[in-house]
Amino acid sequence: MLGYNEMMKRIKPSVVICYDEPFKSMTGNIKEFLPTTYEWTKDLSLKDLIQFKWEKHNRNVSGLDKKDFQFFDYDDPYVKDQMVKCSICGSVALQDQYGNGECKNCGWKFSKDEKMYEEKMGISYPMLVSPTTAREQYKKGLPFKATFEEFINGMKFYSEMTLTYKNKIYGVFFYRDKTLKAKTFQEEDGQVEFFEDTVNSSLVKFDNVSDFANKANINGTLLKELWKDVSFAGFMYCG
Ligand SMILES: [Zn+2]
Repeated sequence: MLGYNEMMKRIKPSVVICYDEPFKSMTGNIKEFLPTTYEWTKDLSLKDLIQFKWEKHNRNVSGLDKKDFQFFDYDDPYVKDQMVKCSICGSVALQDQYGNGECKNCGWKFSKDEKMYEEKMGISYPMLVSPTTAREQYKKGLPFKATFEEFINGMKFYSEMTLTYKNKIYGVFFYRDKTLKAKTFQEEDGQVEFFEDTVNSSLVKFDNVSDFANKANINGTLLKELWKDVSFAGFMYCG
């Protein structure tokens, strides 16, 4: 859009003739016309034309119903219809065209960059726990859960984390020091806040990630020591 905005500023056109559908962010006096392949739509009734435009606009949107489309063949772009081998349990898992998927057998959720996430950051997305740890846990019949170290790794990447311990939910916020030049995921400098959800008085601040990893505690027991009893550990807003 930068080029478009600059064009609007410099040329100040009285009209912009737009081939096919304009983007929402385009400003100015826009006259859109449909490509010649859609010329036949000029014979449609207004109601059908509105339907046609809706379909044309939404045909790449995920989660819609095929039955709502009359003019286009609708294929959900995020439908998981490719079979791959689950990297954790070895069963058949399903992924979408972008390589994001799920294994119904073991419950593993994965992204196409699984190897990169593990190698560079020691985590996975969207599960947090690394595939190597997940494979060990699967073999032992344990549920997937990030180790304390992986939780710390995740913190550097996701910044906002959550964990559940004895049915209480805790939050961890990592405020990276934005004045630092090196912006790698390993960058540890920045304040960390640790708190029990909805309990304002529980807020404790730490100087940096290592300080948090070494000193964070719940009622006097270090977080790293009670980790085995943590029932859930993930980043916030993970689905
Ligand atoms: Zn699996």
